[in-house]
Amino acid sequence: NLYEIFEARFAKAGDQAAIELADGTTWSYRDLEAEVGRIARLLLDLGVAPGDRVAVQVEKSPRALFAYLACFKAGAIYLPLNTAYKGGEIEYFLGDAEPRVFVCDPSRLDELKPIADKTGVAHVLTLDATGGGSLAEHSTNLDSGTPTVPREADDIAAICYTSGTTGRSKGAMLSHRNLSSNARTLHEIWGFQPGDVLLHALPLFHVHGLFVASNTALLNASKMIFLPKFDADEVIRLLPKATVMMGVPTFYVRLLEREAFTREVVGNMRLFVAGSAPLHPDTFAEFERRTGHRILERYGMTEAGMITSNPLDGERRPGTVGFPLPGVEARVCDEDGKVLENGEVGVLEIKGPNLFKGYWRKPDKTAEEFRDDGFFITGDNALIDNRGYVHIVGRAKDLIISGGYNVYPKEVEIVIDDLPGVKESAVYGVPHPDFGEAVTATVVPEGADAPDEQTVIQAVKKQLANYKVPKRVFFAESLPRNTMGKVQKNQLRDEHKTIFT
Ligand code: ATP
Ligand code: MG
Repeated sequence: NLYEIFEARFAKAGDQAAIELADGTTWSYRDLEAEVGRIARLLLDLGVAPGDRVAVQVEKSPRALFAYLACFKAGAIYLPLNTAYKGGEIEYFLGDAEPRVFVCDPSRLDELKPIADKTGVAHVLTLDATGGGSLAEHSTNLDSGTPTVPREADDIAAICYTSGTTGRSKGAMLSHRNLSSNARTLHEIWGFQPGDVLLHALPLFHVHGLFVASNTALLNASKMIFLPKFDADEVIRLLPKATVMMGVPTFYVRLLEREAFTREVVGNMRLFVAGSAPLHPDTFAEFERRTGHRILERYGMTEAGMITSNPLDGERRPGTVGFPLPGVEARVCDEDGKVLENGEVGVLEIKGPNLFKGYWRKPDKTAEEFRDDGFFITGDNALIDNRGYVHIVGRAKDLIISGGYNVYPKEVEIVIDDLPGVKESAVYGVPHPDFGEAVTATVVPEGADAPDEQTVIQAVKKQLANYKVPKRVFFAESLPRNTMGKVQKNQLRDEHKTIFT
């Protein structure tokens, strides 16, 4: 049981701070253990047995983290849900996962209770952003000394739904070993040390904020400064108290927009980590110019936690996601599974102790994504360069096949992004009667000298083969992104799907 590993650390940390809020309120590791114990007791009293799912859709708060840990302690399977999900989506997840307990925000109880009842959930509890609600009311007077329920390394600790960027979200079953091995590895390679303080501004319903940020800090019995959500001014105010921050690329873009974000602000910082979406090399460069820090970019996914990372010591190369983590094997293959040479683009396949057990109740989907030798087909196009750095080129599903030729969107995006007056761009394929798919771009202009459609097309034509040149270019104020900063190309494809037909 992963919680036993944490417990051993917490016991030593005792009165040291575990969580601090922006207003200075603090919980020690002793407080945390007591809270976790009481919530675990409540779950057990509600009849939660090993293997039962506990689904949680709540705002970020210290108690939300305690509830997460309480699930492990009680031997349950933790199932976090994005706070953005609406009723219809919740119905799908509850119906698919059949949790015994569902915890939601009290403001949504009237809407979600009937859905929970309909899908057979036995108990609905509430938890709001300040920690209030029935979860707290029913647990405060309970005994905190509940022993941790034993679990094997191979037992499922959590089911996390993928972000749904490429289709319907799938529930990835992650074992205690998956989570503990990944936390230990990150703790080690990112050099966590006594005294580290993590500035935590990520959501708690996703692998990044939950497993990468929280588990690594918990393993170190570090203090986490909890922000309910990312707020550039708050981050700037609190950074001087922190040594490590993890964020999606958008966090770093937003910080750089603030004049108050200076070298002084980051004087105490040891490490900035980025992931969940590609970090633009310009952001990397500008961040280094402004702060002297080279952002450490890493790559991972719901199904495997973290997979590759740029080095803590050694060259952090912008535009790459670094090396496979210790114990993780990575290879680039063609569609038939033939391993490609360094430098060739194919689909990244991986294997290691971090790799999930399969998709919840989707044995066929699971079988499809695994090779016979146990490698998992990530669905990301990548190449490994001669120095061993992994470059993520984009999603296999975003690959455009135009007139029989493969077009990797990123190659075109790089050319467009380099044009004067362009902030960023997204390149995608839309149905075309002659070519199958036509290369199409959406460009976010910047400043006064923004190009027009023909300027973009002509500029790309000078640098790339004709079949890679966008047939149409659209302009938008921003690219559609989800909460994790991932560009929603599905949405762009959808919006423009009839332009050639
Ligand atoms: P779904 O699988 O439902 O379509 P998703 O793949 O977006 O959604 P996640 O598991 O949250 O769901 O995201 C993992 C993906 O995020 C990776 O497969 C990869 O495409 C992308 N990603 C993560 N880190 C990076 C990075 N540093 N650079 C580029 N892409 C990244
Ligand atoms: Mg995915």
